[in-house]
This record gives sequence, structure tokens and C-alpha cells, in this order.
Amino acid sequence: MTRLPGPVHLRQVRTGNLQALLVAILDGPASRAELAQRTGLTKATVASLVEPLLRQRILAEDPVVNAGRGRPSRPLRFSDAAPVAIGVEINVRHLAVTVQRLDGSTAAERRVEIDNRRRGIDELIDSVAGLVSATLTESGREPLGIGLAVPGIVHGDTVVHAPNVPALTGSRIGERLAAALGMPMVMVDNEANLAALAHLWPQRLAGDDFVYVSGDVGIGAGIVLGGSLFRGGSGFAGELGHVIIERGGRPCTCGSYGCVEQYAGLHAILAAAGARGLGALHDALRQGDTRSRSAVNCAGSALGTALASLINVCDVGTVVLGGGYATLFDDLAPGVRAELGSGVLAAVRRPVTLTVSPFGRTAVARGAAALITRRCCLAPELLSATVPSADGRSTTG
Ligand SMILES: [Zn+2]
Repeated sequence: MTRLPGPVHLRQVRTGNLQALLVAILDGPASRAELAQRTGLTKATVASLVEPLLRQRILAEDPVVNAGRGRPSRPLRFSDAAPVAIGVEINVRHLAVTVQRLDGSTAAERRVEIDNRRRGIDELIDSVAGLVSATLTESGREPLGIGLAVPGIVHGDTVVHAPNVPALTGSRIGERLAAALGMPMVMVDNEANLAALAHLWPQRLAGDDFVYVSGDVGIGAGIVLGGSLFRGGSGFAGELGHVIIERGGRPCTCGSYGCVEQYAGLHAILAAAGARGLGALHDALRQGDTRSRSAVNCAGSALGTALASLINVCDVGTVVLGGGYATLFDDLAPGVRAELGSGVLAAVRRPVTLTVSPFGRTAVARGAAALITRRCCLAPELLSATVPSADGRSTTG
């Protein structure tokens, strides 16, 4: 026997409609009639959803556009005055903050090169809070919340493992930062996961199934399946750097041997090339230095070997290279492609697309901010809670 569904609460319907409307506007400015088409909602419903958002200055109307025949329209878009999301990246040798509008555009950003390896948690939180306050003030906007990216494994609201910035291990840094800044919404996740999210929200730049690979000292991966990040049971999914490509091979910081990080991590590449940094390596490659060329070729093959194993397990069609790998992409890609072509079983039916992240070194902070903008678009009551209406009354959307 089929049970009939119970009555659906009107508020849930309205929330669902608001979600659809906000997501539709992410595809670009549009008139009410176009938004009705994009969402499948009636024009009357769109109009009733739009008015409170205009009063709250979450949306704004552009000047009248005369599109030939028919009534002139006024495209709606996210307002420049709308509240903003803050994306924070704590990394081994830098801190970065980006202030992002709901449409994903950047309102302000700052980056400080600083060695965080031996800093204590209090000192780290003070630095981050100071950088966030300065960047937010520069943007002149109200904050929705903070997304925080850390170079470690996050489970629940605790950083459970952060070998390169040890002060983070065991910390509930989200709670600490929320208290320090008096900002209730702080969400924390792993850096590679958030860099992957930057390619998923607000625009889907790599489809619904892809792996984002960040190449730094370590190698991390953000795995996106069916349009969602795959974190695994305890947050350890995507530890691509510790896929073993040579049994009994080079010792790794994780205690194992033969991990791909020891062959294709940036430290390994620079050591093999005899280069001091990425800039020097880049220059040497351009000058035809054979040692550098060989180091990068070997790293590309090693990375491709590990990626082929990953793809044989999860069958994604696209790999996005970011972080330091974005800088080396042209030199690294041939070696990676060769291994993907020969090692991925599905490649006979569908070759794997290998591409470079368009965001360079800003991907992590952008993805951290996207954690907040996505949350607010999918739970629009959070937007209404943050914003007083333009006429001073509290308005619920
Ligand atoms: Zn390892």
C-alpha cells in the first residue's frame, strides 16, 4: 500500500522556492520573467520572493533594458551592498583572507607570508582574527560568516591531524575564531576539499564528478562525486599523497614507504631538480635544463600512476591540478596524461580530462568563502537573519 505524503509545510515550500531563485540568479542577472523560466516557478511567486530580497538589499535591480519587442525588463542580480562571506586559509607558510560576494566575486583579499609551523594556537588565532578584521573593514560589508581552510584532517568541528601546522591538531579552531571575532557562523574544512568546492560553487567549472589535486609540500585531493564532496567516514578521504606507488620505496613522513608524495610532492621535485623554489624551477625549465626536465617528468609519471589508481576506484572523468601544480601544469601534464591514458581502464571509453585550476593560489580561500555562500543560498533564512531591511524593519524572506 502506498502512503500519501503528509501536508507540506508552507514555510518549507517557500524556503525551497527561495533556494531555487537564489541558485537561478547565480547563473547571471535575469528579469523576473526569466527567473520564472529558469526555476519553473510562476511569475507571481517569483515576484513575491523578490520583493523582500530587494528591501533587504540582497538583490538589486539593474536599469531598464529594452530588449526589442515586448515589455522592457529590469534584470535582477545580487546587490553589491549584500552581506559577504569570508574565506580564510591557514597554510604552512601563509595566511590568506578573501571577502566574497554571494555571486562569488571578490570584494577584498589579503595574504601574508608567514611561517606557521612553530606557532602556538593563540598566536595563530590572533593573526587570523587581525587579518579577517582588516580585510572585512576594507570591504565595508556585513559578514555572513567565516569559512576556514586548514592543512589537515577535519572531523566534526575538530582538526584531528595537521602534521605541518602542529598547533592545529586537536583544536576546535572554528569555535576559538568565532569567539575571538564575535561571529557565530564559522565552518572549518580541509584545504583540498575547499579548493575543490571553489570549482563547484557558485559555478560548476569541472562538472559533477572530478578530483581536485593540490600540489604543495604534501599532495591533497578533494574528491567530488555527484556534485558533492566525498569526505569518507572519518574525514581522511582524498589523502592522495599517501597512495603507495613503490612497495618498500622512499620513507614518508606518515611512517610508510613509497608514498607518491615522496616522488611528486613539491619538495621532492625541487630536490630532484636541484632548484631552490618554484620560480627557479620554472626558469630552469624554460632554459632547457635537462635535470629539471627529468625531475618534472618523473614527478608527472608518479602523480599519474597514483591518480590512475584513484580513478580506477571512483571513476571520475576530470582531474583539476591546483596549488603548486598549477604553476607547473604545462610541464607536468604530459607525464600525468601518459599514465592516465595507459592506467585508467575507463579511458578506452572516455579519456580523462586533465585541466588546470583557473584560480591559482586563491582556490583554497575562495572555496572557504564558498562554504558560507553555499550554506546561505541553500538555507536562505540565514540571509534574512543577517540583514536588516533598507527601511529599518526586520523582514523575513
Ligand atoms: Zn605517506
